[in-house]
Amino acid sequence: MKALLLVDIQNDFLPGGALAVQDGDKIIPLINQLVHYPFDIIVATKDWHPSIHCSFANNHNKEPGEHVQLSGIDQILWPAHCIQGSKGSEFASGWDTTSIDKVIYKGTDPMIDSYSTFFDNEHLKSTGLEDYLKDKGGNEIYVAGLATDYCVKYSVLDALQLGFTPYVIVDACRGVNLKENDSREALELMQRGGAILITFADLYDQLNKIRSMKGKEP
Ligand SMILES: [Zn+2]
Repeated sequence: MKALLLVDIQNDFLPGGALAVQDGDKIIPLINQLVHYPFDIIVATKDWHPSIHCSFANNHNKEPGEHVQLSGIDQILWPAHCIQGSKGSEFASGWDTTSIDKVIYKGTDPMIDSYSTFFDNEHLKSTGLEDYLKDKGGNEIYVAGLATDYCVKYSVLDALQLGFTPYVIVDACRGVNLKENDSREALELMQRGGAILITFADLYDQLNKIRSMKGKEP
């Protein structure tokens, strides 16, 4: 079964948001088409932080971009973003979310961040995504969203470890790129790990082929 996993497409990650990803809004027209493709399941995730969250620079009296150690894990500090219930935490304006089957929340624990949509950064607590997908029989996961070099990357690496086959729809993702090549290197890392990189156009062709093959069946 094919699942579409839409990662953190929220106002705060779009231009004008608290933690804007450059050109993050450019993926919205593609996402609005993807949600009408014949996926068996559509899951969307939300970064969903309490205001006291440990990833926020202001909660450490530090500046965004500085690092701290949390339980032995390096944590980059970000501007406060995606605070539960805020406008910034809502799904991107202009995105047609009516086809979403399930919303998964992550980063809800104030003491630890969660880049992956499957686990927190220590891999201690699950978000419930693995069980949800396995219950539904989803084995192929098509991933799009924000940001390529953080939440998309860690979600795809976890998906591989959990035995799923992840496809990354490259042009339906955008990266933070604190360093210029972060997104490119993230994509290479995902590909080396076994993820399949495809473009939006490739996916369109692939799904059409599947549809026409099915049409030929008696
Ligand atoms: Zn966050």
